[in-house]
Amino acid sequence: MIQLFMPLGFLGFVYREIKGSMANIENMFKLLALRPAVVDAPDAQVLDSTANSVSFDNVSFAYQEDRPILNQLSFTIEPGKKLAIVGASGAGKSTIVKLLFRFYDPSSGTIRIGGQDISQVTQHSLREQVGIVPQDTVLFNDTLFENVRYGRVDASREEVENAIRLAHLDAFIARLPDGGDTLVGERGLKLSGGEKQRVSIARTILKGSPILVFDEATSSLDSRSERAILDSLAELAREHTSLVIAHRLSTVVDADQILVLDQGEVVEQGTHTELLRRGAKYAELWQAQQSRAAGETAPIAVLN
Ligand code: ADP
Ligand code: MG
Repeated sequence: MIQLFMPLGFLGFVYREIKGSMANIENMFKLLALRPAVVDAPDAQVLDSTANSVSFDNVSFAYQEDRPILNQLSFTIEPGKKLAIVGASGAGKSTIVKLLFRFYDPSSGTIRIGGQDISQVTQHSLREQVGIVPQDTVLFNDTLFENVRYGRVDASREEVENAIRLAHLDAFIARLPDGGDTLVGERGLKLSGGEKQRVSIARTILKGSPILVFDEATSSLDSRSERAILDSLAELAREHTSLVIAHRLSTVVDADQILVLDQGEVVEQGTHTELLRRGAKYAELWQAQQSRAAGETAPIAVLN
């Protein structure tokens, strides 16, 4: 299907991305069939690689003109801080991620990284700077090891193994007949949703971008695996600016700032403690999840 819709120019684009930052190729493939790529401005600058604050300034966006998705959204993530966004399915959370990675341009407003307008920088430098663990992960028909290495194609075996450990994939790999050399993907071993997410997390860890985005990155995991991975990620996030789109509220408790998004608008904002004290929407969601968690065996689906 991709071939049918993909104009030739995209092949070069895809190839460059494969050679460069691969962690988000899966998103690109999906989008390639949907719309032409956003293009670099004629005088596009290279994004300062030490810049890692993120700000949305009055950002509005619609996929179709008559159906607004984000409405005058503003927030700032200071360097090294963690911002979480929670909200019901369809609220516009993943759209925020797509705008930050510049799969689309806002209809109005400005997105900046370290003060630079992302529509004025090269897409390549932008995508080097931002590592995304997407909601769905696509595996390539290659070994598990190489699937992780897509995060950074020049990574050494040792670096790949380290990322695998941090993503808690090592125990799983140890059980495979050919270990990390086992073929996965459509023509190989099929991985579960949770295992795929770990591959994706390992890729992003390996990519090592200063800005990390997790779009419900642990939603397919059971709570115990989620906890273990979150501990690794917390370690990693200490040196990074992170944007976490959360599935379970337990994953956002330690965020510096939490936004509650409803129909493309921020309806509440604060730390976990502040939002609980407010006793409004966030507090209600928290209560609902806490009571479910008491007897939890399956993932909670209040927010997804
Ligand atoms: P969330 O991640 O909070 O569940 P999304 O950002 O994925 O929400 O979606 C917000 C809204 O935008 C939803 O109503 C969704 O159906 C719509 N949407 C998402 N992607 C597209 C697209 N490519 N084209 C048209 N509408 C879309
Ligand atoms: Mg989403």
